[in-house]
Amino acid sequence: MMPRGPLAAEIYDTARPVPSWWEASAPPDRARPALEGERTAEVAIIGGGYAGLSAARVLAGLGIEAVVLEAGAIGWGASGRNGGIAGPGGHKLSDAALLRRHGAGEVTRHYALLAEHLAGLREFCVETGLGDQVQGAGEMVLAHSPRAARGLDAAPPGFTARPVAPSGRADVARYGGAVVSPAFGIHPLRLVRALADAAAGAGAAVLPGSPVMAWHREGAQHRLVTPRGSLRARTVLVATNGFTPDGLDPALDGRAVPVISNIAVTRPLTGDERAQHPWLGADPAADTRNMLSYFRLLPEGRLLFGMRGDVTGADANTATMRQRVIRRIAQQLPGFAEAEAEYFWRGPICATARLTPAVGWLDRTARVACALGWHGSGIGMGTLGGRLAAGLVAGAPEAEIPAPMRGPAPRLPLPGLRPVYVAVAMKLLAMQDRVT
Ligand SMILES: Cc1cc2nc3c(=O)[nH]c(=O)nc-3n(C[C@H](O)[C@H](O)[C@H](O)COP(=O)(O)OP(=O)(O)OC[C@H]3O[C@@H](n4cnc5c(N)ncnc54)[C@H](O)[C@@H]3O)c2cc1C
Repeated sequence: MMPRGPLAAEIYDTARPVPSWWEASAPPDRARPALEGERTAEVAIIGGGYAGLSAARVLAGLGIEAVVLEAGAIGWGASGRNGGIAGPGGHKLSDAALLRRHGAGEVTRHYALLAEHLAGLREFCVETGLGDQVQGAGEMVLAHSPRAARGLDAAPPGFTARPVAPSGRADVARYGGAVVSPAFGIHPLRLVRALADAAAGAGAAVLPGSPVMAWHREGAQHRLVTPRGSLRARTVLVATNGFTPDGLDPALDGRAVPVISNIAVTRPLTGDERAQHPWLGADPAADTRNMLSYFRLLPEGRLLFGMRGDVTGADANTATMRQRVIRRIAQQLPGFAEAEAEYFWRGPICATARLTPAVGWLDRTARVACALGWHGSGIGMGTLGGRLAAGLVAGAPEAEIPAPMRGPAPRLPLPGLRPVYVAVAMKLLAMQDRVT
């Protein structure tokens, strides 16, 4: 059995197709081979999502031989099943806490790099034929209370904020908000496949259906064993985010904190339905609560609506979570809930104990690096983190990575209890949402 993390076993079962709108609406992927037999590479990358593929693309571009081992199909992980909102998130600290911890210079560098990266990612989407899937010019951030509305006009460095007027209705936009740019909506599965093509085009090997079942350290080399082969490499980059397994390598255990996110997609809304919330256009949106909702009107006129909830992702909880999502649509976007949810799926995002991403060496001597912990905003931050991790393993100084995402995340004590920690944190955060 493939080693797995602390969630329900079914979450890690790559043989199960993801019942997402993205799978239903994307053309079939090209055929890609699995790892067969013995192979060597300079850098082995575990995980074929945004982070691993972005890293592979950069490494190959530098002439460094990189091989990506992905357990499922390309995009089977969170990269092929997310909300498709490419925005400025990536950590869960308050702005004040981020500044206290890292100082204004590093925080500015962090955001400015992310803003520049998002603009480049948008261009990548257009250049790779996904232009008709790029939606909006920014992310609409909607205040969940009058207090939360204060300060929303102050965008992070490198970003701009345009005010959104209160909707005048009993909906999620009643207190108004701001559109933060650059940000956009995208078809996430088509994006991850485009990244796989770009990495392969640059010379990397992208091998789906290749779960790493065992990891042996043999002298200065690593040997990663898959069901039909093994890969030897001097350097390993772990890019498994919310699917990070325990028991594969001691450097990794207990550092990733997976949290379940849930998404429903409705049938196309009618013109009358869309007229109920005219403020919702092409820009993807989210509210300001800790236990946030995120939503988009897709190019096909369907509503995509997502929220956190449930701590293990077990099948037994799927029907309850589906009902909860539909109830939340009715509360926040009354009128849209009449539209049947035709698709519903789930998956893990990845938090860390320090609430910021983790890009750096897990074990510098043994050359094991990681790029994970995007806190639910991996389209921008995961592609950027993969890029920076590639630079690191190619020899760039660690200081090139802005401090808010630099270095491995600390281990949590008693890592088997992560779902319990998440349950407690969710309760506290929901309480905080009610009083802020
Ligand atoms: C429901 C949902 C909604 C989201 N919405 C958004 C959004 O709107 N905007 C946004 O920016 N982000 C969103 N996210 C987060 C975003 O999807 C992730 O942050 C991002 O996809 C992570 O990319 P990654 O490459 O780091 O990891 P992943 O894409 O999760 O890839 C990790 C891969 O590692 C593989 N793996 C694990 N173990 C092994 C092994 N032993 N051997 C080989 N391979 C292995 C897995 O199969 C998996 O495919 C959402 C996530 C979810 C689940």
